[in-house]
Amino acid sequence: MSTGHLTIDLAALTANWRALHAMTSCETAAVIKADAYGLGSERVAKALVKQGVRIFYVAMAEEGAAVRAAVGDKAQIRVLTGHMRGDTDMIADLNLTPILNSIDQINRHFEALPDHPFGLQLDTGMNRLGLEWDDWAAVAEAALRCKPVVVMSHLACADEPDHPMNPYQLDVFHQMTDGITTPRSLAATGGILLGPDYHFDECRPGIGLYGGLPFEDARPVVRLDLPVVQLRDLTAGEVVGYGNSWQADRPTRLATVAAGYADGLQRALSRGAMLFHGDTPCPLVGRVSMDLITVDVTDLNEDPNALAIICDAQPVDRLAQSAGTIGYEMLTSLSPRYSRRYVG
Ligand SMILES: *Cc1c(COP(=O)(O)O)cnc(C)c1O
Repeated sequence: MSTGHLTIDLAALTANWRALHAMTSCETAAVIKADAYGLGSERVAKALVKQGVRIFYVAMAEEGAAVRAAVGDKAQIRVLTGHMRGDTDMIADLNLTPILNSIDQINRHFEALPDHPFGLQLDTGMNRLGLEWDDWAAVAEAALRCKPVVVMSHLACADEPDHPMNPYQLDVFHQMTDGITTPRSLAATGGILLGPDYHFDECRPGIGLYGGLPFEDARPVVRLDLPVVQLRDLTAGEVVGYGNSWQADRPTRLATVAAGYADGLQRALSRGAMLFHGDTPCPLVGRVSMDLITVDVTDLNEDPNALAIICDAQPVDRLAQSAGTIGYEMLTSLSPRYSRRYVG
């Protein structure tokens, strides 16, 4: 078998949810958009429902189907992009709760499904999703009378605790919502870590559940082992891979490993990523190709059958850094080709 092997630790995932929940004294939802950040929304939702999670967020109505099948009627499934044209049947049939982001969406929802639950998102400065101040002023009273399940907004810079955007957005959110009786939500993972002023009635972590920054104390959830397909010896001066971009400067033992950019290992990793045999780092050399990478294993005492690229010695954010990206992108790029094992 030449596919890479993902191990997903559901006990670590649920421990991360409990740890984040314990930092608050409010409801804690779980964000499982993009197939639970690439880790499998059905298994993740099932594990979290057992912990008592009652609110899940997906990005798109289509993502709600797998989650609804996994959790039955035990949880609310909220859709962050709201009520789009063509979503009405799915929202009704799967009992999804759209988070309405604009006057258009509010009108569409009230016309199509007048008695169906909904939430509202306000824009407090990120300029991505949500009602702006003037629109909110125009519809707030009527919308709140229909009892939304939540009024939320999203922080743009919560992973930088000292960023002035955080208190600015907090202040705008207060100004837009103080005095309402609807539950309020502002914090994702980063917002939880900013402290209780940001927690309101509900927090909605995503990345921290999956072991990613900015939740530094998270337990790692993902391990990725890649099989070695072939080993060879190079003499000093031989070159490796497309473009001959790497040349051996000593006699080198080279492992060819079965995963590449088609599996979410971005070509940018060619600039100096590491793989691991136990705790021993082995540098990726040459260019990442579609299905293969090449690794210098000269310094190992034995020929490896597999090398790890996400492991305790190299958490997902460290690997992401080698590619100039973030843990979120690394996780959501994980290949459907990898075989998956859920533990815990
Ligand atoms: C993705 C997302 C979250 C979760 O954010 P994390 O940084 O992964 O915790 C919460 N709220 C909204 C609106 C989001 O888009």
